[in-house]
Amino acid sequence: MTVEVERADLHRTFTASAPHLRRILPAALYAAGVSHKPRVLVVEDEPTIAEAIAARLEAEGFAVDQVHDGLAALERAAAWNPELVVLDVMLPGLDGHEVCRRLQADRPVPVLMLTARDDEIDLLVGLGIGADDYMTKPFSMRELVARIRVLLRRVERARSAVTPAPDVNVNGLRIDDASRRVWSDADEVHLTPTEFDLLSCLAARPGTVLTRQSLLAEVWGWSDASGTRTVDSHVKSLRRKLGADLVRTVRGVGYALEVGYALEQGS
Ligand code: CA
Repeated sequence: MTVEVERADLHRTFTASAPHLRRILPAALYAAGVSHKPRVLVVEDEPTIAEAIAARLEAEGFAVDQVHDGLAALERAAAWNPELVVLDVMLPGLDGHEVCRRLQADRPVPVLMLTARDDEIDLLVGLGIGADDYMTKPFSMRELVARIRVLLRRVERARSAVTPAPDVNVNGLRIDDASRRVWSDADEVHLTPTEFDLLSCLAARPGTVLTRQSLLAEVWGWSDASGTRTVDSHVKSLRRKLGADLVRTVRGVGYALEVGYALEQGS
């Protein structure tokens, strides 16, 4: 019965393609926690919102803890090791930008950021704070839960990959899919789980133009025309971290890993 509710839930939230939905649903349901409750840390200073989110997530089978300011978020994350963080941007003291930055520097964790304004998202991504997804208030709890499941599923899928792709070397850039680590020349570059998936997806077909829609479906696991801005935003953060020339924009079509970079498959 729960299965049917969740299926309807996902259907309404995303206009995901049917084959994709069939592929992700069982795992998404598993991620909801039959034998394991994923730990979600909610960071929100408005008590009624924090409480509402926590109550809904607990009802959906997550283990939830909530804190109400940025420093408490960092302390709790270090102690509790959450599998995902729902993080409000506007917090007293240490704001959401800084909390996200410090969380990612310490130990990358999927972060779903809550913003007050729609136009704030581009600004946030421009700052390169490393969130994996963004939602504008007010949002539906149903959509929040669906997006959390998609993010958790992606991380789980990446961890459980049986056959890791070989290392990819793109001029000074080395991508190790097995450990999900990236180096630019000798320096390791810390990418968020989403940034890594996007880079890995582009690097698998260097020089090939991938549409925003196909990147959205492949990396985020859903197809939604309005979501293509999320792709643009994450391309921006990749460029910021790895160099402006790495990803080429093909106007009106999509993105390609720049062919000027000679690509070799490592052994
Ligand atoms: Ca707030």
